[in-house]
Amino acid sequence: MSENFIELRNVRKEFAGVVALKDLSLTIQKGEIHCLAGENGSGKSTLIKIMSGVYQPNAGEIYIDGNKVENLSPMASIEHGVQVIYQDFSLFGNLTVAENLAMNVQLREQRQVLNWRKVREIAKEAVKRLGVDLDLDMDVEKLSTAGKQLVAIARALMSDARLIIMDEPTTALTGKEIETLFRIVKDIQSRGIAILFVSHKMREMLEISEHITVIRNGQKVADGPTGDFDEALITRHMTGSDIISK
Ligand code: ADP
Ligand code: MG
Repeated sequence: MSENFIELRNVRKEFAGVVALKDLSLTIQKGEIHCLAGENGSGKSTLIKIMSGVYQPNAGEIYIDGNKVENLSPMASIEHGVQVIYQDFSLFGNLTVAENLAMNVQLREQRQVLNWRKVREIAKEAVKRLGVDLDLDMDVEKLSTAGKQLVAIARALMSDARLIIMDEPTTALTGKEIETLFRIVKDIQSRGIAILFVSHKMREMLEISEHITVIRNGQKVADGPTGDFDEALITRHMTGSDIISK
């Protein structure tokens, strides 16, 4: 059995002549906390959208559980267990926490009639499991940024997620909220779910991840266990200052 959950091989993505990703290979193992590091514009979000089936690569291959996947669509990506928590969280502000959590279930069950009481129970369980204080009946737009993020995480966990991708999750959080997020990330990992933690903040990635991939200008420039890196080395890889100074 392969330890790899998803593998990208030599992926290329262009937008009207702009090369966003070039010959990029990346492997995320089952159950690992993997950090994708890169400066603004380096291609991180594009890479996420390829893994989640939003964009089709112009070249290259995607493997999930060792099997080649052709034309990965957003729906197929979700069915394979890939969940993305975007920076805007993609929630419905004028619906309550419980209603937002029910959305995922509703989408999956499609035409089946929702048993609201059951959905509410599942939602309650999902929030309880995160160990946080979230009022199921509050409108999401009234929550803090951290609160909205927790709803998005709980929603991702209500599907059969195998990989949760978090795009720059700490951007708008306080120090205490980051601590809570990290505790939750580790709890998610303990359920055997892999995390792709997308960031450009050195200290955070060194603290939370087990493996770091650094990209610059759409290309992979470093890849290895977190123990092989320190802040100075990641900065050099991200900025390419090693090249400039020579
Ligand atoms: P990051 O998330 O690391 O900041 P992105 O993946 O958003 O980087 O962008 C990588 C590069 O691709 C940038 O040069 C960006 O301008 C370009 N790009 C991303 N998405 C599009 C798009 N939809 N159309 C045109 N160019 C894009
Ligand atoms: Mg981005």
